[in-house]
Amino acid sequence: MEQDMMVADKASKRPSFVKVFACKCPRCRRGDMFADKNPYHLKRTMKMNVHCPVCNQPFDLEVGFYYGSGYVSYALSVAISVASLVAWFLTIGMGLYDNRFIYWLVANGVLLVALQPILMRLARSIWIAFFVGYDDNWQQHAPKEPERVNKDFTNAW
Ligand SMILES: [Zn+2]
Repeated sequence: MEQDMMVADKASKRPSFVKVFACKCPRCRRGDMFADKNPYHLKRTMKMNVHCPVCNQPFDLEVGFYYGSGYVSYALSVAISVASLVAWFLTIGMGLYDNRFIYWLVANGVLLVALQPILMRLARSIWIAFFVGYDDNWQQHAPKEPERVNKDFTNAW
């Protein structure tokens, strides 16, 4: 039991971006945001826990909260495209008189589609991290209940 606590405490000291990538609750960095750990179970990819299973932080902060994650997702896609373009340029190269640029376009498109389940989750995880900070004493405080929710619209994505 005590050993478990030690392990948990060690885990919380990892840098928070690791937790963001793992789609952990931004407040306690322990609970999972998503109901299914595997984003490639496509029917359940976006199924979120209503509250953090560890600290009870609500994950839907207001009506339409995750619309904003679209901007994050867009930024991530652009970043991946730039990275893959640079990688393509350095390894395969590009020329004016052949189709290597077109091949990159297709390959990058396939890559983005294949990564979509991960990117959509990551975008939500990054988005909520803008609004909910890590609370060192999450065991002591209760999480802030959002004021502008409409129960009929919770998780209606
Ligand atoms: Zn939590």
